Amino acid sequence: MAQKGSQFRAEANPALRTVCAHCGKSIPTEVGHPHPLDAEDRGVWRETWGLVGMENGSPRVFPTCDECYQAGWRPPGFVH
Ligand SMILES: [Zn+2]
Repeated sequence: MAQKGSQFRAEANPALRTVCAHCGKSIPTEVGHPHPLDAEDRGVWRETWGLVGMENGSPRVFPTCDECYQAGWRPPGFVH
């Protein structure tokens, strides 16, 4: 059974990598489950922080590298 839609995500993110929302560095997502908000709950995707901020009035997960996180960067609208 082909999973419609998954191929588009795979194309955009073939090796489970993403880019830091702040510096644009390529970072591993290390998510492996369908709920990024839950990943944020757990605090860390290994080298990647899933920080929840606001974009266009809606909550969004901003992948952030450990370097930027440790430097104190937070996405716009970060609530915690
Ligand atoms: Zn960064």
